[in-house]
Amino acid sequence: MSRPPDASRRAAGPELARIARSAASSRAQSSESSKAALPAPRRLWSLASKPVTVLNKIGPRRAASFGELGIENVLDLLTHYPRRYHDRSRQVPVAELEVGREVLVVAEVRRVRTIRASPGSRARPRVEVDVHDGTGWLKVTFFNQPWRAKQLCPTSHVALFGKITEFRDQRRMANPVVDLVGNRTGRIVPIYPSSDKAGVASWELAEAVSEALQRAGVLEDPLPMPLRERLELMERTKAFHSIHAPATMGEQLAARRRLAFDELLRIELMVIMSKVALESSSKGISHEVSPQRWGPLLERFTNSLPFELTAAQHRAIKEILSDMASPVPMHRLLQGDVGAGKTVVALSALLAAVQGGYQGALMAPTEVLAEQHHTVLRDLVKGLSVPDATRLDGERQLEVAMLSSKTGAAERSRLTAALRQGGIDIVVGTHALLTEDISFAALGAVVVDEQHRFGVEQRSALREKGRLFGGSDPDLLVMTATPIPRTAAMTVFGDLDLTVVDGLPSGRVCVKTVWAADRELEAEAWDRVRAEVALGHRAYVVCPLVEGSERIEARSVMAERDRLVSDELAGLAVGFIHGQMRSREKEAVMAAFRTGEIQVLVATTVIEVGIDVPQATVMVIEDADRFGLAQLHQLRGRVGRAELESWCYLIGERDRCGSDAERRLRAMEQTTDGFTLAELDLEIRGEGTILGSRQKGRSDLNLASLRKDRDLVQLARKVAEEIVASDPHLVDHPGLGEEMRLFIGEDDAEFLFKS
Ligand code: ADP
Ligand code: MG
Repeated sequence: MSRPPDASRRAAGPELARIARSAASSRAQSSESSKAALPAPRRLWSLASKPVTVLNKIGPRRAASFGELGIENVLDLLTHYPRRYHDRSRQVPVAELEVGREVLVVAEVRRVRTIRASPGSRARPRVEVDVHDGTGWLKVTFFNQPWRAKQLCPTSHVALFGKITEFRDQRRMANPVVDLVGNRTGRIVPIYPSSDKAGVASWELAEAVSEALQRAGVLEDPLPMPLRERLELMERTKAFHSIHAPATMGEQLAARRRLAFDELLRIELMVIMSKVALESSSKGISHEVSPQRWGPLLERFTNSLPFELTAAQHRAIKEILSDMASPVPMHRLLQGDVGAGKTVVALSALLAAVQGGYQGALMAPTEVLAEQHHTVLRDLVKGLSVPDATRLDGERQLEVAMLSSKTGAAERSRLTAALRQGGIDIVVGTHALLTEDISFAALGAVVVDEQHRFGVEQRSALREKGRLFGGSDPDLLVMTATPIPRTAAMTVFGDLDLTVVDGLPSGRVCVKTVWAADRELEAEAWDRVRAEVALGHRAYVVCPLVEGSERIEARSVMAERDRLVSDELAGLAVGFIHGQMRSREKEAVMAAFRTGEIQVLVATTVIEVGIDVPQATVMVIEDADRFGLAQLHQLRGRVGRAELESWCYLIGERDRCGSDAERRLRAMEQTTDGFTLAELDLEIRGEGTILGSRQKGRSDLNLASLRKDRDLVQLARKVAEEIVASDPHLVDHPGLGEEMRLFIGEDDAEFLFKS
């Protein structure tokens, strides 16, 4: 996996060929004993090695168009699934069309005219199309779609979906949904995602698929028959036929279920095999703790907190301690809503390592976040000490240090030396801590704060780093502030164990959230800020996101502060904070905000996490429509942190908001539950963003959806667990192993098969 990417890609071809040969020879042996006459079923691998030009109607030019759709080979073609289907039994003959109804009409284009508006009029040209289906004529008009004149030529067969209207005694359809279906028979007509740009019509894809399927013959089914029967999954050759050319919609559904299951199974196998491979190949540290005996330092820490741990925090810490006690390295994901109190839990893991003489590291995705974590952690451990035989008292202060690119050279060399010698107990920094030339005396536990991003790369870098010194893998806790829906977490973070800190510490109030969509509500927001400040409370104003550098962002924060002081917030003490300020300046501002010397803090999203001022009761987010849901939720988490009634105003003019933005802002008004918002976020953004860098390329889910196919995700998970438990390297399931390599990528999958 450490090979440079292109070298490993080059190696992929021969490697696949080797697998193919060995699989073929083992198959030949087994078929000798049974029915030797039957040709071996074809494997997907062989389809992937055939360019689409092997098909009769596809020459180099067509192939280039297919290429624009991402279809290079026959496997790409067969996994380019229809986006929807026309059920022609629902189709209405033109002669029977009723005005006012939405219908599906399939007909032949007879005449196409582009009609220009009279000179001087500002109307755009319209395209008028006459179609005929053997029972009658229908007039179809396209407004603002001049390209239809080229797309629809006489004799082409089209499926039109739209509402029938009447105009001048004639039945018409305006701007219907159009699919070029070709002169195809069959009750269900597949409609492929095809781009106008690539110039490939749906019927052309259908024809190519049909030829490919016919010539491919029987395809190998990688799932053993008994398993298939138990799960009531359609046989795979039939599934490919049925998804592209179903006889009924029921058949299509069964085919989809089978093929979606295969997609999910490949991913679940991958994450479970990664987990097993990791556990069997690594040597961890058995920390001297247990869920019952927390140890002196950890106990002193929890006793020093100004609050009782919640039940969820208690449970989370116990789960972590039990992992840390075990010789298998911990690999755990800590999830919880904003304000659930994850910091205390994460710090407990670090302290459990420190009390046994090890060091802990906390890594954040950005410098700003690292600084904030550093401030919070330092405060939390104030007054704690660790044994130190070289001191007269036999102990010293617990040392927390921060290492960043801004650390000066002299300070840096002092810190790195102290880390190497064990003089620093906990270090906070960015992910760069891993790549830089930093070594530890004894790194025992690492907390990675992943925030909104889900990187797997850092995790493997971390293992390698851990092994460089001492030879053991440090325990790892990955923390996400963005709740992830369970099925998605199971898949995306499937190689990690999951701990959820659910519920909030008691006494939290629900933050009243208002989408300030017009001037009046916006004025209410500023009124509220003044009213709360008058009561001795504080307010945040979050500035619009600024594209470009932190410097530009800093300038806009200062400008906004000046504007507010001379306008809406005249007479109030308004401060500002942004990412370009030095830590010391930031700390000074935060201290002033805490005491009330600053009443309103104008800020960038640097305040997103880590900042905790209980007297803050109002937040105004400007241009809220431009923020993502997860980010809005995080920001809102800065208010409502005590028992004081709190508000969050989301400014975003209704007219300017797109429909997705509108859904986000409405959702924020309706719920403060991070998990509910996460589900919705997944729905709005699609799963691509969640899978992100974890599953690249062909393994992207084509059919299956982590959101809609929850039951199927669970099923695939269970089946994958069963298979790996009895056959950890898929020796008895060679077809599955081969397809994982095929879809997930040779280099990513390879290490899973090594014993
Ligand atoms: P998050 O899960 O968002 O990281 P934090 O760890 O920042 O949450 O905690 C949010 C706030 O709640 C902090 O002020 C923290 O001190 C406080 N807190 C944490 N645990 C408890 C608890 N058990 N009872 C009361 N307050 C708590
Ligand atoms: Mg926090």
